[in-house]
Amino acid sequence: MDRRHFARLASSTWRSFADRWLPRGCALCDATLGSNEDGLCSPCVDALPGRSTPRCPRCGLAPRGAIPGAIPGAISDAAAGQTGAPQCAACRHAPPPFELTLVLADYAAPIDRLVHALKFGGELALAGALGARMAPLLEASGWPADALVPVPLGAERIATRGFNQSMAIAQGIGRRLGLPVRGGLLARTRETPAQSTLALAERRGNLTDAFRASPAAAGLRLVLVDDVMTSGSTLEAAAAALGTAAAGPLAALVAARTP
Ligand SMILES: [Zn+2]
Ligand SMILES: [Zn+2]
Repeated sequence: MDRRHFARLASSTWRSFADRWLPRGCALCDATLGSNEDGLCSPCVDALPGRSTPRCPRCGLAPRGAIPGAIPGAISDAAAGQTGAPQCAACRHAPPPFELTLVLADYAAPIDRLVHALKFGGELALAGALGARMAPLLEASGWPADALVPVPLGAERIATRGFNQSMAIAQGIGRRLGLPVRGGLLARTRETPAQSTLALAERRGNLTDAFRASPAAAGLRLVLVDDVMTSGSTLEAAAAALGTAAAGPLAALVAARTP
């Protein structure tokens, strides 16, 4: 075990001890959390950017110009084809391969800071805080999920980072909803340059065949979990691989979406 890994392990052991025995503080403002709050206090969650923006239920984006009848936070619908919440023009024209996108907040301050500290600072407790606040979105959507599937990282990135932040977030959600996390259903077949370094047109090509799904995904209603959704092309590539494995209808659940 290298020193960095040991330090991370020691820090996560301390955190799980502290989580249990010390008064818990909000990950953003440090206010002591109420018994019905988890990870982030309610005022901080309510103040997150884009919390009250009506979103297209299919892609999670706020369409230019409000859509009448759209629901703040992004919600159920169309997906299940039940409530008929209106989709944005882009989704009506070329629907993404998932039926529903649930978004906790826009990718902007201060949630960008949490995601960054989780991913690059190894602050794994933040995955639990984000997961705790993402779980109610899925619950409220009524989406009938069989399991959560975190977007996988390549082996090389896992080796450098030591963990997959999407897996850690999915575990936080799964714990709260009693849903299994099935990381084994989706694998990254090769390393791809970070999407953020590429122009939009390059992103799709970058991800072609980057994922492979297990035949065990067949027929399952899955929820893809990721930390940040930018253009959506990573989730689309993951969804395409699951589609090839004959998975059932898919939803996406992300902590933050680039507005
Ligand atoms: Zn707070
Ligand atoms: Zn849309």
